[in-house]
Formats: sequence, C-alpha cells, structure tokens
Amino acid sequence: MAGIYIHIPFCKQACSYCDFYFLTKQELRSPFVEALVEEIKSFGSHPISDETIETIYIGGGTPSLLTMDQLECIFTALDKTFHLKPIEVTLEMNPDDVTPEYLNQIQTFGVDRASMGVQSFDDDILRFMHRAHDPKEALKALEALQLANFPSYTADLIYGNPGQSEEILSRDIDQLLAFNPPHISAYSLTVESGTRLGKEVERGVVTPASDDTVANHFDLVREKLSESGIEQYEVSNFAKPGKEAIHNSNYWRHHNYLGLGPSAHSLYWPDDEKAERWKNQSSLKDYLNQDWENVREEQETLNLHEMAEERLMLGLRTKWGVSVNHLMDRYGYRFSDSQMKWLQFQADENNVIIKDDTISFTSDGLRIADHLVFQLITK
Ligand code: SF4
Repeated sequence: MAGIYIHIPFCKQACSYCDFYFLTKQELRSPFVEALVEEIKSFGSHPISDETIETIYIGGGTPSLLTMDQLECIFTALDKTFHLKPIEVTLEMNPDDVTPEYLNQIQTFGVDRASMGVQSFDDDILRFMHRAHDPKEALKALEALQLANFPSYTADLIYGNPGQSEEILSRDIDQLLAFNPPHISAYSLTVESGTRLGKEVERGVVTPASDDTVANHFDLVREKLSESGIEQYEVSNFAKPGKEAIHNSNYWRHHNYLGLGPSAHSLYWPDDEKAERWKNQSSLKDYLNQDWENVREEQETLNLHEMAEERLMLGLRTKWGVSVNHLMDRYGYRFSDSQMKWLQFQADENNVIIKDDTISFTSDGLRIADHLVFQLITK
C-alpha cells in the first residue's frame, strides 16, 4: 500500500506567509505537465509500481489552475504506470477557481476529496495574507462544494494573525461550521524568513501575535470544532468520525509514498531494509532540465533508530499515538527505563495516556506535542 503526492508549482499570486515552492508566472505550465508525465512514466520499473496505490494527493501551489486537459494527462499517466486502487483522491483548490462545473469535472477523474484553501472570511485578514480570493468567493466556493457530491472535503483555516481578535476568529469558525464540513485543517500563522511576511516582521512593519494569543486561538478552534462534533485527530487536523484524511495519516504511519513534481518529497522503505527519502529538484527550471536519473536534489538513507524517532514524532501528534509492540516489531525500538519513568510522570500530569500497549497524548499534551516528543526522545 502506497500513496502518490503531486506538486503543482503555480499560484496566481504569492500569499505573504507562504514558503512552499511555486511560481506566479504561468507560461511553463504546459512544459511542466509534459515533464510530470515523463517523471510518472520513469517510475514504471521502480518497485513502488508493484505496490497498490491507495491514495493520491494533488497539492501545491494551486492545482486548480490546471486545465481539465492537463489533469486528464496526469491521471492517464498515473493509471498507465501504477496499480491504482485509490480509496482517497484529494485535489487542493483555491476558492476563486471553484465553480459547480469545475467540481463536477474533476470528479470524472476520480477526485473524491476537495481541499479548499479558505484561511479566513475576514476581508482585512485575507488582504493581509495577500490571498487571491475575497470572502464572497470563499462562501460561494463552499456553497458549491456542499452541493457537489464529494464523499469528503476539507477547508483550511489560519489563526494567530496579527490583529485577529478572538471575535474575528470565532466568526470565521462559525461561518465555516455553517457549511457542516466533514474535515478542517487549522494552522497558526508561521513567520518564515524569506517570505513577504518574514521581511515585514524583520523590518518591524508587522508584529506577530503573541504566544498567548496563538495558544488562546488554538483553544478556541479546538473547543468550537469539538462542540460541532469535529474532533482533533492530529495537532492541526480535525474531522468528524471516519472523515480523517487517509493520505496524510499514512505519512504519519510511514507508508511508502512517491512525491512527483518540483520540490516533492518521497519515502521508500522496503521491509527490513533502511528507508530512503529524497527530494526532487526545487526549481522548476532545474526540474525541466533534468533527466529523471538526476531529478533528486537531496537524498538520505535512514536507519531503524532514526525511523523510530520520526515515527514517535509523527505518531504522538495524532490521537492514535504509537503502539509499543509495533515500535518493537517494526523498528526494533524499546523505551528505556528513564523514558518509561518520564512517560508515567507525564501520565500523572495528564499529558500522556498509557493504555494497553498504546501511548498517546491527552488534549493538554497535544497543545505542547513537539516539546513533549523532544523531551521523550532525548531522555
Ligand atoms: S495559494 Fe497556497 S501555495 Fe500558493 S502562495 Fe498561497 S498559500 Fe502558497
């Protein structure tokens, strides 16, 4: 069982906070799709092509900028190269690209999960983020999404924006909940150097929200979503029961995945061997000019101990936590006495749950998940 991620590196304009790889010039879109099809075909003899592909995730960038012909080329190449038996096919889209016709058309390719970059319904905040859409477009896109027949969809929200009061955030959440979404991803605004926002913060033009404000926003998000039956299952992800994202959950469980397109990451871990992780050339120009042998910009081999620590980091950020037996069987990893003592102490502090052979974080623990995992693995 494996997944495929495809990175579409084009956006209409640069959101102020974004540090993903994308271009705002569109003229290389056709050469990119041609190259992507060639990259897909190049995996025809890779062992991953013998596995069943259960999930496909088309992200970016802005995949909804692709034409239907371009999407068809990509899905046809995937179908010809891999054993596709997808149980989830997600496509990211921005509200300003979405119409009822668009949603109907993408379903003909097997897309059964839409991921909508809403972020906020507040005009000032959307402008501060330099998003390409306005609140009306977000509402219209969600109306169309509600009427389209997707088994599931998700919408992204960003909290912790400078100047965003709890009232504004509360209104954002209420507006989204009015559509009864099955899944929501909520992220705190992060300031990355090199982005427009990062430069504004460096120049002192923008002051980021305080840690306390961000923590209060996070609590508000979690509380309001929980009241609506949308429960946190990962630090930034919330879903109704059974609507958790399969593709992303499989990343956290170390299933194999192939990342295609510029800057995409892959993980291939054959049983009982070291895991291989690589990243494609980041720049589209380099990606277009490479033969597929040399498309990897970075590559690393991870031993079992490194994989085990990563599994702890990823698994403990989820409500499922990690199984002690699984850590032993798959990774040869056993908690030391001092780690066990520390886990018991954190259980007494109501940060950790130890039940049967599973270790997970409480909702208090999830608030500080990264800090706790760091303490655990350095014990
Ligand atoms: S649309 Fe998404 S990928 Fe593109 S710049 Fe904005 S946040 Fe980044």
